[in-house]
Amino acid sequence: MAKVEVDKEKCIGCGACTAVAPDVFEFDDDGLAKAVKNEINDDVKNAAEGCPTEAITVEE
Ligand code: SF4
Repeated sequence: MAKVEVDKEKCIGCGACTAVAPDVFEFDDDGLAKAVKNEINDDVKNAAEGCPTEAITVEE
């Protein structure tokens, strides 16, 4: 089953993932990103690749 996770220890809240894949990534109350769906598409893959701190894990 698909799984999308943000490691909050690594996330710096830059907003790249929420801009690239807003249907899957949202800012949490702490100002860091969280995945709101375990859905993998090209936008999610691009967000994971584009994360500057490699905080996003995508498992298909
Ligand atoms: S792109 Fe990475 S560092 Fe930036 S908000 Fe998303 S998870 Fe956090």
